[in-house]
Amino acid sequence: MDINSPISELPLVGPVYQQRLEHLEIRSISDLLHHVPHRYLDFSQTVTIAYVSIGDIVTVKGQVVSFKNQYTRGGKKIEILELQDSSGSIQVIWFNQPYLINSIKVGDQLSVAGTLTWFGRKKAFISPEYGIGSTGRIVPVYPETSGISSKWLRARIRDVFARLPKVDEFLPTRIVKELGLMGYWEAITAIHFPKSLDEAKSGHLRLAFNELLEIQTASLKKKIAWRKNHSVYKLEVNGTSLQKFITSLKFKLTKSQQQAIKEITHDLASEIPMNRLLEGDVGSGKTVVAATAIFEAFLNGYQTVFMVPTQILAQQHFNTLNQLFSPFKIRIALITGAGITKDFGKSDVFVGTHALIKQKALFEKTALVIIDEQHRFGVEQREQLIKRAGKRTYVPHILNMTATPIPRTIALSLYGDLDLSTLNELPPNRQKITTWVVPTTKRTAAYKWIKTQISGLSAGRQAFIVCPLIEEGQTETTISVKSAKKEYEHLQTIFTGLKLDLLHGKLSANQKNDVINKFKKGNTDILVTTPVVEVGLDVPNATIMLIEGTERFGLAQLHQLRGRVGRGSTKSYCLLFTDSESPKVLTRLSAMQKNLTGFELAELDLRLRGPGEIYGIRQHGFPELKIASWQDIDLIKKAKEVATTLLMD
Ligand code: ADP
Ligand code: MG
Repeated sequence: MDINSPISELPLVGPVYQQRLEHLEIRSISDLLHHVPHRYLDFSQTVTIAYVSIGDIVTVKGQVVSFKNQYTRGGKKIEILELQDSSGSIQVIWFNQPYLINSIKVGDQLSVAGTLTWFGRKKAFISPEYGIGSTGRIVPVYPETSGISSKWLRARIRDVFARLPKVDEFLPTRIVKELGLMGYWEAITAIHFPKSLDEAKSGHLRLAFNELLEIQTASLKKKIAWRKNHSVYKLEVNGTSLQKFITSLKFKLTKSQQQAIKEITHDLASEIPMNRLLEGDVGSGKTVVAATAIFEAFLNGYQTVFMVPTQILAQQHFNTLNQLFSPFKIRIALITGAGITKDFGKSDVFVGTHALIKQKALFEKTALVIIDEQHRFGVEQREQLIKRAGKRTYVPHILNMTATPIPRTIALSLYGDLDLSTLNELPPNRQKITTWVVPTTKRTAAYKWIKTQISGLSAGRQAFIVCPLIEEGQTETTISVKSAKKEYEHLQTIFTGLKLDLLHGKLSANQKNDVINKFKKGNTDILVTTPVVEVGLDVPNATIMLIEGTERFGLAQLHQLRGRVGRGSTKSYCLLFTDSESPKVLTRLSAMQKNLTGFELAELDLRLRGPGEIYGIRQHGFPELKIASWQDIDLIKKAKEVATTLLMD
């Protein structure tokens, strides 16, 4: 048996247990050894029975004085144990576990860890963790699954340690020392058999580092492989011709737009193909940066393919590019599932949805591929498009774009294979959207206010009402989450006389287009919708964004939804509805009232809600970390440095 052996090589792990372990993603000996305890029972620190009060979470140790099975009045089984030390005695209760009588005997030394609570009129530990004998040690508690207890896992891990020779350190000793980390095998031993909680922590830290290092190494390898592609179109432009485009714009570029353009221009002129991510808040002006790159390809006599996730966005980009390029003779084609524009064969730019992937013949002279909201496409779709572009032996330059504000350190590790340009400012003179957190009690008043904004004097505005889910009953909190369909019907009784419409992801592309066009034309007053409006919808007359069940959203996501309003010159508002009264939730939501950027909100969420919740990471399809945390910014940086050192050596 070695560390990579399948778990089935372990005694007592047959097909049934294999299947159960699958739920914990344990398939090999290594997986088992890396199944990290989520907490420890510290039987080494015990408290005297007489000093324990109700509510204390403690470990006590004593002798079993009595242990019996009883029946409750309802006919259920209950096990009652009396534990005694030199200071007094206390009750320990289990429900419906009569077999315990066989393993715990009167006279045994027993350690019990749990919360002391009332049981009737007596104080008791109810269903506590326990250890028989002079445990006096720290016992790991593992993530469990049906049919796999921590106790069982502890026994299997002991089996592994009895059979498996020590596994060698894989990092150079120098690096381990420099980082002040524990050795690899020492760390594995420490998390399963710690002598102290501190030791367990050090072990955990080392394994977290390993996990991050693996991610960094993988993406760095991808980057190195990509950079080995040498057959690329060198797109050189002289400053004056590029300036022609920039001066034709109706506005002055922001500093970060200028910086991004500089970085991209540099990449395009290189013989190493570009693979860059342009990250920028909603409204930060990514399109014009992309347009500059298109212009550079055009000046060199090459085409660009510009893929976006939805038809609506494709149409919008098509219009925008036509506007931006109107002073120049740049021909743009639109290619979506709904059709292709005329004379597309002669185009310089092909804007479209994934329907682009099927248009192989057109893209012979494609030197640049732009992918907007790149996380919405699968790896495969992206690769297919890239393969279709250019001649067979040439790879195009690639510009990925995203509006998801992932904190920079995290973006750098998640996208280690990409170079990163960030637009971290909005164009000047953007209006601030006034934002209110609206509790249940103010709901009616808020509806009334919206009505006056739409149909009162000097009114005529439009509103979005966003609900988190389409159908009720899909998640745990169905009470607070209103389904869009139901909400739509309900809202019609509230906003009588107004025109409401419903938009959600299950509508066909044509239906969606209809709904959106009606809203754009002002034929609809209120658009009730799921978060599908998030991407790309531009309706300047919509000035109100009402979001339901906001406690369920990440701040950055709320921020993106809010970005659907404030697009015209009229004062805009965002109403964050919540039924939650938790101070934590309300504080978090109130951050939306400050003038923070999407990046700042994402960082804040990282601190307030923790790593699992970073908006974007799951959405971008990255695996969640098992051991490390995205909050370990320093460790992430170190892992990146080490990965670079190791791969460059
Ligand atoms: P996003 O980054 O969300 O894709 P867009 O590219 O759609 O943002 O830009 C949002 C709006 O801001 C557009 O109407 C665009 O014309 C405008 N814009 C972009 N850059 C600037 C700038 N430097 N100054 C003023 N307006 C700008
Ligand atoms: Mg955009």
